[in-house]
Amino acid sequence: MSASSWVPGANGSLFGLPNLPYGIASHAAAGLEPQPVVAIGAHVLPVRAVAGTGSGWFEGETLNPFLAAGRPAWQSVRANLGRLLSDPASREVVEPMLLPLDEVVLHLPFEVADYVDFYSSHHHAQNIGRIFRPDSEPLTPNWKHLPIGYHGRAGTVVVSGTDVIRPSGQRKAPSDARPSYGPETKLDIEAEVGFVVGSSTAIGTSVPAGSVRDHVFGVVLVNDWSARAIQAWEYVPLGPFLGKSFQTSISPWVVPLDALEPAMIKSPDQDPKPLPYLAEAQWGLDLALEVRLNGQVVACPPYGQMYWTPAQQLAHLTVNGASLRTGDLFASGTVSGPSRDQRGSLIELSWNGTEPIGLADGSTRTFLEDGDTVTITGTAPGADGTRLGLGEVTGTIRPALG
Ligand code: CA
Repeated sequence: MSASSWVPGANGSLFGLPNLPYGIASHAAAGLEPQPVVAIGAHVLPVRAVAGTGSGWFEGETLNPFLAAGRPAWQSVRANLGRLLSDPASREVVEPMLLPLDEVVLHLPFEVADYVDFYSSHHHAQNIGRIFRPDSEPLTPNWKHLPIGYHGRAGTVVVSGTDVIRPSGQRKAPSDARPSYGPETKLDIEAEVGFVVGSSTAIGTSVPAGSVRDHVFGVVLVNDWSARAIQAWEYVPLGPFLGKSFQTSISPWVVPLDALEPAMIKSPDQDPKPLPYLAEAQWGLDLALEVRLNGQVVACPPYGQMYWTPAQQLAHLTVNGASLRTGDLFASGTVSGPSRDQRGSLIELSWNGTEPIGLADGSTRTFLEDGDTVTITGTAPGADGTRLGLGEVTGTIRPALG
């Protein structure tokens, strides 16, 4: 694909021609009902009229029909959109369809089927182990043999910009005689990368690690909002439940894996060597995340250092014969690097509240206060020294319901 677009301002931008992320947008004044678009520069292009298909892939209010169409369809539509946005001969027809990105409303890009969250950063797992289980080995004995995960709540996955109502729940500190109920006192974030499943599979089959790209369409940014006090009391022995299920936010743009090929890197070495079904296709992605708290950068988590890769995660998720559905979302787990400013959660950044973070206005934070806004952005290397944007996932904390 030519790297050059006729769309003013697109070349060299994070949403340049090599990216072409998909979302769902509406524009009331322009009469645009929610429908699939691609971002190009500071504009969006509705794809229904131009994608060159008669298959109904873009007729609905979600990307799911297109996701279900499979990799050959993803590649042919992407090539077609690339041609339309680079060939000057298409400009006269296509340019009037463009809408300014800052005028459209962006919606949840796909209907989330099942949602799984992993726990695949070695540094994050080690930090959490040290905080929650200071007298034991930080990593559980299974951690380096399988990508640990849990099934989350698909129905509370929301699009970036949706407010976060502080959850209430049951908690009990070790020093408390009995549990109590009330607003969460340790509301936290988890900066993650999510993978969007397109092609479904049948129950009783599994996806080999080497075939993952036939099933995973693309990538979103994820903020797995986490209620640490609720979580600490409830998580033994079955893992996360109400401390996680109240809300999970995702970015409005799904960046195709095909756009991220220049970002594919060899993932870190694994010792011990995993079982054969986890041993192949150990590619990672060189994604750079930034976490802002009320506008101030508080962390720069490096996704490229994740121990378990998306291919291994999907192979593991299906190795028991569990099927995939179009719209399944699996998230990486909190992305944390080795240094303090690379930690993707406040519980790590503030070391469970013992090392407050200083903000530019002179205040400090251990966990989130009502009114706080957290924004996670991400970029990736593109072709020829360019950078691709993953957009952002943002949310503002509102008080607990009375
Ligand atoms: Ca998580």
